[in-house]
Amino acid sequence: MSDLFVELTAPNGRKYSQPRGLFINNEFVKSKSGETITTINPTDESEITSVYAAGPEDVDIAVAAARKAFKDPSWRDMDTTARGELLYRFAEIIEQNKEVLATIETWDNGKPYSVALNEDLAEVTGTIKYYAGWSNKVHGQVIDTSPAKLAYTIREPLGVCAQIIPWNFPLAMAAWKLGPALATGNTVVMKAAEQTPLSLLYLGTLVKEAGFPPGVINFLNGEGRKAGAALAQHLDVDKIAFTGSTATGKEIMKMAAVNMKNITLETGGKSPLIIFEDADIEQAVKWAHIGIMYNQGQVCTATSRILVEEGVYEKFIELFKSHVAETSIVGDPFKDDTFQGPQVTKTQFERVLSYIEAGKSEGAKLIAGGEAFKNVGGKGFFIAPTIFTDVKDSMKIYREEVFGPFVVISSFKTEEEAIERANDSTYGLGAAVFTQNISKGHRLARLIEAGMVWINSSNDSDIRVPFGGVKQSGIGRELGEAGLESYTNKKAVHVNLGTKL
Ligand code: ADP
Repeated sequence: MSDLFVELTAPNGRKYSQPRGLFINNEFVKSKSGETITTINPTDESEITSVYAAGPEDVDIAVAAARKAFKDPSWRDMDTTARGELLYRFAEIIEQNKEVLATIETWDNGKPYSVALNEDLAEVTGTIKYYAGWSNKVHGQVIDTSPAKLAYTIREPLGVCAQIIPWNFPLAMAAWKLGPALATGNTVVMKAAEQTPLSLLYLGTLVKEAGFPPGVINFLNGEGRKAGAALAQHLDVDKIAFTGSTATGKEIMKMAAVNMKNITLETGGKSPLIIFEDADIEQAVKWAHIGIMYNQGQVCTATSRILVEEGVYEKFIELFKSHVAETSIVGDPFKDDTFQGPQVTKTQFERVLSYIEAGKSEGAKLIAGGEAFKNVGGKGFFIAPTIFTDVKDSMKIYREEVFGPFVVISSFKTEEEAIERANDSTYGLGAAVFTQNISKGHRLARLIEAGMVWINSSNDSDIRVPFGGVKQSGIGRELGEAGLESYTNKKAVHVNLGTKL
């Protein structure tokens, strides 16, 4: 076996063959420079393996492969029903390999195995199947103008799409981007996050097995500033879709201007969760917990600012604190009862700790956590679930995205105040409102500046429903029918049926 694959045994005992190369033209290849990235198990800080890292030269090769595939009639002119069947077969093969994919995801990312298997992998296959169904349902329109003219539109693919994904949901974010891009006939060069490169490479083996023509789907690993920037600036890339931090999103937007690429950005958030006195408090407690503590708090839509109406503030805090203590079980992600694994990297771990220090020094009241969690063999990037109360709007921990098991709670007096404070953010991704009053719920849904509002839940996104943000939380939408808009042009065709000059 060449050094493009390595035989590994995961912590759960699963043995498998891990690809280490860049996946271009349905083959794994070394990077031209020979550079590699070493990936770390966040649970015990050990090295898992190293994988080849793409540089600008490799990006050129991958983009050329995607361009060639885009022009090739075997993909471009593929019957749309056949394209849907191909995508569906891909989803089925992923399903057959879900245990190994979930194992890799947990090992590399630190998320609980049960979550990786039952939620992330279900999201992956569900998304690919959903868009497989759309493949033969993306229609143009006939636009009636006059009998002398036939005007119609064709929904055509954009071309070569660069897709840059983050480390918090590697495979799920890959599926959100692959599904609509492929269903509409684009070709893809996707870059994994350097922190979690392994699962996407394994997915490469399944791309080939599903039978996609070479070059339609290419997977690169590589650093953001090298491979990511090379993609964003590439003159032969037509579109860039990105999920990650707001700061990087802005960089990408600037770089994409070089050839006026179509862009979709899904970036940061500091999403509010508002609880009114008339809410079902026990339900609010449970959803608020999932809303911030799920996936180690590493969720862009995490409802990380909880605003509670004065009359139920103390009660909510008491119930929330004991619910977190009971259910946020921190531990080895391969253990069945673990709710919270380690943060993905040392950098993220230290980032969360620095916000804990900021909260303490700014004078917020720490009622849970506030330190590293050391009971998992003394190693790993674990954080004790952290709750700050009596948080002021001016505090850094109230304003900035932390991306960890870290929540701030504050009280409000009136509906107007709740709306104003919910909107007092540079972000506008998600928002949750808890009330039994349906008029109030719907009223707030309109008034809150966010791409998504949950009434009486939090973060229960659905692949059939548009996902995305306003303000500095992003541009464009993923998922649902709206996701297809991000990957097609509407070409207008004017047919003269009788206008004579
Ligand atoms: P984080 O700061 O949480 O690691 P980023 O937004 O930096 O999140 O990373 C998300 C994705 O963007 C990753 O795939 C990363 O490699 C990529 N990336 C980071 N910096 C750049 C950049 N300057 N240009 C293009 N891609 C980048």
